[in-house]
Amino acid sequence: MGKGITIGIMILAVLILGCEDKKENDSNKKIKIVIVGTTGMIADAIGNIAGDKAEVQALMGPGVDPHLYKVTQGDLEKLQNADLIFYNGLHLEGKMSEVLEKLSSKKKVIAFSDGISMNNIRMLDAGGTVHDPHIWFNVAIWKEAVLYASKEVQKADSVNEELYKTNTLKFSNQLDSLDNWVKAEIATIPEQSRLLITAHDAFGYFGEAYKMEVKGLQGISTVSDYGLNDVTTLVNIITSRKIKAIFIESSVSDKSIKAVVEGCQAKGHKVVIGGTLYSDAMGQAGTHEGTYIGMVKANVNTITKALK
Ligand SMILES: [Zn+2]
Repeated sequence: MGKGITIGIMILAVLILGCEDKKENDSNKKIKIVIVGTTGMIADAIGNIAGDKAEVQALMGPGVDPHLYKVTQGDLEKLQNADLIFYNGLHLEGKMSEVLEKLSSKKKVIAFSDGISMNNIRMLDAGGTVHDPHIWFNVAIWKEAVLYASKEVQKADSVNEELYKTNTLKFSNQLDSLDNWVKAEIATIPEQSRLLITAHDAFGYFGEAYKMEVKGLQGISTVSDYGLNDVTTLVNIITSRKIKAIFIESSVSDKSIKAVVEGCQAKGHKVVIGGTLYSDAMGQAGTHEGTYIGMVKANVNTITKALK
């Protein structure tokens, strides 16, 4: 089937579904506010806050790398039609900054990271000008951002304020339980083996919060490439500490991680790929991993199973 036909069918499906939605809305006489989130994690949080009172859309789907993501024509329409826009900030969406900046003169464009106290943001340089954007991997910090975002949703749609507050309390309780669960699970890995090696530096917050040493092959962004030097350094650490497994990420190429596995083999130490971690994007919609809580749980289960 040609690409054009496939797209044609998709558009038709969207039109049909779109019509049904509209009918339902008309009969209920409900006018929903439209909220757009850049990443899946943000849209998941807003969905938990808003319930069925808002139409929540995510720009980036499963497997999409936010560091490299560029706004499409379809995104532009979504962004222009939104009542409220949430993004991560701290340069996670580096290639979207111009568009977000422009939109902010017309409507509320809010960074999740603005809800987090400066003390909790990881600095990556001595001058404190470069920040780690991967805030969703410390569940307690993510909760701070969620509470902040909730206040903005309440302001934007004050008619449903009480409902948003109730939903937020429920979600933040779930995040508290998740945070405690992750702490307990990671603590079951022997200390010597508590080293998390992945394709890029997405897990710095995770490591700090849950007491795991973390090393990534590419730096904090996937924009820059990895070097042979980095591979050699990691191979030496893995072989000397007899680490059992390293990890692939769902939104980053596995080329670099495979180079490390081969390097270890050449030195006579067998390290396996312990599985795929959801780093900068969630799993498929409709699955457990397609939610924020499910994504974190899946990662922790993959990590503990491979390293214990
Ligand atoms: Zn990243």
